[in-house]
Amino acid sequence: MYKRMLVLRFPPQITDQPLVCTLTREFDLCFNILKAEILPGQEGIMVLEVSGHKKNVTDGLRFLRDVGVKIKSVEQEIRRNDDMCIQCGACTGICPTNALTLDRDTMEVIFDPKQCKGCELCVAVCPVRAMEIRFSKETVLL
Ligand code: SF4
Ligand code: SF4
Repeated sequence: MYKRMLVLRFPPQITDQPLVCTLTREFDLCFNILKAEILPGQEGIMVLEVSGHKKNVTDGLRFLRDVGVKIKSVEQEIRRNDDMCIQCGACTGICPTNALTLDRDTMEVIFDPKQCKGCELCVAVCPVRAMEIRFSKETVLL
């Protein structure tokens, strides 16, 4: 099973179309929506995990791009501002995917964006707002 964690941006003129359902109907894909902010007449943002056969995922994402959806991986949309991070470790206890972990030898907090699911828990818990997520209202934009 091939999986992708994605951030989809829908231009205002297509937010009323059931495009994500088409991924299931026509491309036999499963999806798990983690976040959706879709309002008529405004750009919509959706964070979701898409899974299925790799070719179907590729074809489904091509379909979305062809109708104007902008697609990025979650890891492209999150970063840690290393200048701000004070290595306090608060985020390591809350991150559900081990994208933020503590190296016991160096006591350094390691961030692996490839493991990130975009849940935003680290944004809320970070005392210095070092975690920056483009699709979050809680953070400074990159
Ligand atoms: S957004 Fe969620 S999954 Fe990603 S690093 Fe932060 S806590 Fe971990
Ligand atoms: S909570 Fe913030 S400051 Fe603390 S280790 Fe994590 S990213 Fe760095």
